[in-house]
Amino acid sequence: MSEKKGYVYIIGAGPGDPELLTVKAERVLHEVDVILYDNLVSAELVGQFDALKIYTGKRKDKHHFEQDAINEEIVRHAKQGRKVARLKGGDPYVFGRGGEEIAFLRKHGIEYEIIPGITAAQGASAYTEIPLTIRHVSSSVAFCTGHPLEKIHVPDADTIVYYMVASSASEVSRALIKKGKEETTKVAIVQNATRYNQKVFTGTLGELKNRDKKVVSPALLVLGENITEFIEDYWFGKKKRVLIAGDRGDRYEKEQYVIVRYPCNELREDDGENICTKIEDTFAEMMLLFCDTSAVRSFFSYLQENGIDIHDLVDATFCTAGIAASAEILKHGVLPDLCLDAVTPEDIVREMAALGITGENIVIPGSGFCNEMLVNELTALSNSVTFLQVFFEGAIGADERVDLDFIDEIYFSSPACAEKFRRNYKTIPENITVTTADTKTRAMYKKLFKP
Ligand code: SAH
Repeated sequence: MSEKKGYVYIIGAGPGDPELLTVKAERVLHEVDVILYDNLVSAELVGQFDALKIYTGKRKDKHHFEQDAINEEIVRHAKQGRKVARLKGGDPYVFGRGGEEIAFLRKHGIEYEIIPGITAAQGASAYTEIPLTIRHVSSSVAFCTGHPLEKIHVPDADTIVYYMVASSASEVSRALIKKGKEETTKVAIVQNATRYNQKVFTGTLGELKNRDKKVVSPALLVLGENITEFIEDYWFGKKKRVLIAGDRGDRYEKEQYVIVRYPCNELREDDGENICTKIEDTFAEMMLLFCDTSAVRSFFSYLQENGIDIHDLVDATFCTAGIAASAEILKHGVLPDLCLDAVTPEDIVREMAALGITGENIVIPGSGFCNEMLVNELTALSNSVTFLQVFFEGAIGADERVDLDFIDEIYFSSPACAEKFRRNYKTIPENITVTTADTKTRAMYKKLFKP
């Protein structure tokens, strides 16, 4: 194992627009070995970096990280001598539990630094043209949490921004009225601030009380006279939303368009080299452990999408868990070095222990979600364990589905992109303009969507 000392960066990723990242954060994210990111961080942002990416957000099933497990995971990577980025939505110190992670790092004697991010309230303010302070109108601002409702605070500030208001707007307004706020108090709800699907509602607490529409998370509630500054044709709302399937969308001017990327797994000319060296550096002599068939399939697409030659993995040991994974890997022309009978994490550990597998650099391709038991037990056998994210699933996949209600135009860069899009979205709403790169793509689009 490396003698290098690990180092941790606690980084604020900003509120959503991937460009609202500091220059420092961007530099660091290009340098680190591992990025642990939470559910408020966009896949587009994380997708720009080559590090090993581990999603620590909540999922609907039980396999998400609890805060303790996140702390452990950060420390585990750092102790292996890696540079680790802990990437959090907004700013790490604004309702971000940054403090808890840092306390844990201190306890383990791991060095770190903190890179601030633009907090959601600031993002929402700039992207709706609702100032947080205004001379003679609002001279103080407070950031509060709206959760839990029964403990909601109403500080004496001209502008109050409530985070975590993901229940119904009416419940929140009733709670605030109960705490003494006037029904005439001006309010705004900003959902998905700085993202293509940003939505703003403005009115009064009284109006909001009778509005039973659910607040879509993430959302902020802003209270105060500053709301009167809101205008319907605010700069961000005026832009057209274009969904670009396949290329970088350089042809769309950023002054006029909000660009939503729909990746189509096309190779970028400059990707291959970077990722190859990354794989070689980080995982030279690894034991790849495939726990199921989708891990196998996605791993090979991952290699292909990233331009990685299988020869680069000549020193790797291929290990499969269960007959199905073994059969799947054979289809890809690889005869596994080791076929475990086991399929459950418990049995995998037992079998590996019996085989005396120790001192290995075990890499587990998959969705990047970590099975804590597997990690702990394999680590206890003196192995180093890493999760390689080769596909997204669960919350991130669902969240990242583009909401076509917000889209004005779709651009297809190739026939393959139109096909991929068609697999995920059966139809394209009438009001959306469709443009294509060339006549071939146009023909494919027509065939698929206008038969
Ligand atoms: N550290 C983050 C806040 C994390 S708490 C920050 O500084 O912004 C999570 C809450 O942040 C959400 O419930 C929501 O209230 C708010 N939030 C985060 N991103 C948001 C966005 N793009 N639009 C609206 N609210 C957002």
